[in-house]
Amino acid sequence: MAETAIEVRGLRKSYGTVDAVRGVSFDVAQGEIFGLLGPNGAGKTTTVEILEGYRRRSAGEVSVLGHDPESRDRHLRERVGIVLQGSGFYPRATVREAVEHFGAAYRRPRDTEETIALVGLEERAEARATELSGGQRRRLDLALALVGDPELIFLDEPTTGFDPAARRNAWEIVRTLKDLGKTVLLTTHYLEEAQSLADRVAIVKDGRIVAEGPPAELSPTHSRYRVAYDSNGRRVELDTDDPTDLLHRLTSDALARGERLEGLTVSRPSLEEVYLELTEEEGR
Ligand code: ATP
Repeated sequence: MAETAIEVRGLRKSYGTVDAVRGVSFDVAQGEIFGLLGPNGAGKTTTVEILEGYRRRSAGEVSVLGHDPESRDRHLRERVGIVLQGSGFYPRATVREAVEHFGAAYRRPRDTEETIALVGLEERAEARATELSGGQRRRLDLALALVGDPELIFLDEPTTGFDPAARRNAWEIVRTLKDLGKTVLLTTHYLEEAQSLADRVAIVKDGRIVAEGPPAELSPTHSRYRVAYDSNGRRVELDTDDPTDLLHRLTSDALARGERLEGLTVSRPSLEEVYLELTEEEGR
């Protein structure tokens, strides 16, 4: 069994009368990329900020690398990388200077040039933060989170506002982190991002986890497969848990009638379909 990097049990957080997190439990194994998904206001950022030690919880148990993040223990802080939004601290510093400066706060920082290369900013190492594009600035934020060579990295919507190429680059960086054995907790609104990066995801809605598992295995509570074909100019779609049996019946009936099942497909619902089904408002 892999060791557990993050353990959350019955986590609750209320802001006055707003119950933002209402009993959330999940584990993240060491070396795993875990994605938190959910609509605006679901409670993702609140959960992540509690794990980062930036917010106090109302109830529940939380362990991050074996520590309670509320203690804000120095040893814990050294082992965790947090991507701050907008590295506006040193707008006049160059990329290299900012990375070096942040690294100096750690006992065993990663090499400055290596860190800059990890996020693909080699060609901008002499540029000031104010001269960077939005996407490049986010990469600098990531470099500042990685220079301490953390074991666990929190990525809160890491590619929001990125162009498609920059997003692919960021995904490559996250994969590199995984190859280095790091644990990553990722929040994202891009289901493709979660599907492509996360080993497991949890879908959060109204402060509760409504589904959890590897992206490819998540399925709505009912049927796991959809069989579709064209018949008399109409598209027929059938949902089933047992596609073998259904296909056998469909094809033998079709053969008996001398009919071809044009456009026959068997598919599993995409993460996006699952997500929309699980998070859509009740009563619609
Ligand atoms: P988003 O996808 O929009 O970032 P989220 O899932 O991260 O959303 P949270 O930011 O955790 O959601 O917010 C959860 C709920 O808590 C929302 O109803 C929000 O309005 C409320 N909330 C968040 N922070 C505070 C605060 N500091 N004071 C009062 N209410 C807050």
